Amino acid sequence: MEIKIKHLTKVFPGDPKKNIQDTVAVDDLNIDIKDGELIGLLGPSGCGKSTTLYMLAGLKAPTSGEIWFGDDDVTHLAPEKRGIGLVFQNYALYPHMTVYDNVKFPLTNLRISKIKVNQKILDNLKIIELISNNLDEVIDLIKSSTYKNKLSKEVASRKLVFKFHIVTLLAKRIFKLGLQYETSENLSNKVQQIIDELNAKNKAILDFLAKKNIKLNEKYEYIDENNQPVRETRRLTKDEIDALIQETARLVQINEYLDRKPSELSGGQQQRVAIARALVKKPRVLLLDEPLSNLDARLRLQTREEIRRIQKETGITTVFVTHDQEEAMSICDDIVVMKLGVEMQKNHPQNVYDDPHNLFVAKFLGTPPINVFEGYIKDNKVYIGDEVIYKGKRASKLEEKEEFKDGKVYIGIRPEGFIYLENKSEAKERLTMEVKQLSTMGRDMSLICTNPFLNQDDEAKIIIDSSTKVELGKQSFAIKLDKMFVFDGETEERIYLRGQVNYGNQE
Ligand code: ATP
Repeated sequence: MEIKIKHLTKVFPGDPKKNIQDTVAVDDLNIDIKDGELIGLLGPSGCGKSTTLYMLAGLKAPTSGEIWFGDDDVTHLAPEKRGIGLVFQNYALYPHMTVYDNVKFPLTNLRISKIKVNQKILDNLKIIELISNNLDEVIDLIKSSTYKNKLSKEVASRKLVFKFHIVTLLAKRIFKLGLQYETSENLSNKVQQIIDELNAKNKAILDFLAKKNIKLNEKYEYIDENNQPVRETRRLTKDEIDALIQETARLVQINEYLDRKPSELSGGQQQRVAIARALVKKPRVLLLDEPLSNLDARLRLQTREEIRRIQKETGITTVFVTHDQEEAMSICDDIVVMKLGVEMQKNHPQNVYDDPHNLFVAKFLGTPPINVFEGYIKDNKVYIGDEVIYKGKRASKLEEKEEFKDGKVYIGIRPEGFIYLENKSEAKERLTMEVKQLSTMGRDMSLICTNPFLNQDDEAKIIIDSSTKVELGKQSFAIKLDKMFVFDGETEERIYLRGQVNYGNQE
């Protein structure tokens, strides 16, 4: 499902009596999300990402603007009519219900329009098929659940459900046939007897319907006088609900925990239950509000991979809200970086990292974070202190564009953007840093350095190849052009140097 957000704005009114001003939480936001895409809304606390998500969900009304799901304008539609699945950061599971009942909850009052089938006949045929073609497996599965010769009906049935993708009630019926108690000599007779009985039942149903002049087609669907399948709007049956729960449980891999209460699960498992509950109604759009924030570091990694897999398998258009840039970069197709309710940049995560449009975005993405220096442009040269870090042919364009005028700039250099100059005469453009600390971590070496022109931070972090021989003290570095970004000192907008990539904004 494609989503279009058009000029979306949300103002929370203040209170003039208490001298509280209006808060513009979301300001003229425009985002197009393609069908099947996982998009991350990313930004620091208070940037309006949750408010945007709640407007998509219908839980908060926009002050102005529109939200479209495909061809439907859903701006003023009630949440339950939008076809969304929402996962909150605190999971919001019902503690007194089993996992099964938690996942079932959204389905209880759901009305659907479906072709009417004769489920009794279809179930009987399914049992015949299973015990004709998979008899050994069926019996083994039931017997494997034996505990001190006592069979747990629940466990035995559950195993059949997983293996053969059938509903629980059907599995219980198979269990009750008692095949596991038969001796091998009697077994084939018993199977034949069951099949005969089921066939007889089906014939009786068909005779009964024929007497009432009710016709079924070859798929056992009810048909009208024009031989067209009959549709009916109704609640889901117990079996249909069960089938949906089992299918979703398999997808998010919680099928082993269906009988437990949420308190008997780990945080990651609880989050998967919350995702299952959001997916069980097969929503058009999945909305995730900081879904990993309550998990420890290891589970976060695992669960974010899970979310990616589930999203890919279902192909469901997903909006994911997070303040964790690494999380967003690792799983999203596109990210939207937000600041104070305004979109700063939207593109593939790597493009945003490689081509930040302003200082805010450059600082927000990357671990370790970008090193920011205060500098200036003079006569087509970029300076940090009295050192020229960029000049020459590439900078010759500086003269031709107005925004490349002389003046104060910020210079952001990614940790991996430094080249250590062993031979001090190697490059004319260089930056001197005082190397305070060296630590080698496998392939990489990390240097902690100081420089008097660092903006805000006291120290810069540099990552270079661990085979480089670096000494402590004052050292010179050349700067890689694709890892250095210059920003206007007033507007903090990017000033492109010649030869630098500009991916623009993804539409
Ligand atoms: P966080 O990561 O902290 O949840 P966020 O980016 O999701 O932050 P929002 O919750 O969308 O930010 O809030 C955006 C702005 O709107 C904030 O300044 C917040 O204080 C304000 N805000 C949110 N809800 C209300 C409200 N009900 N009444 C007044 N102001 C609100």
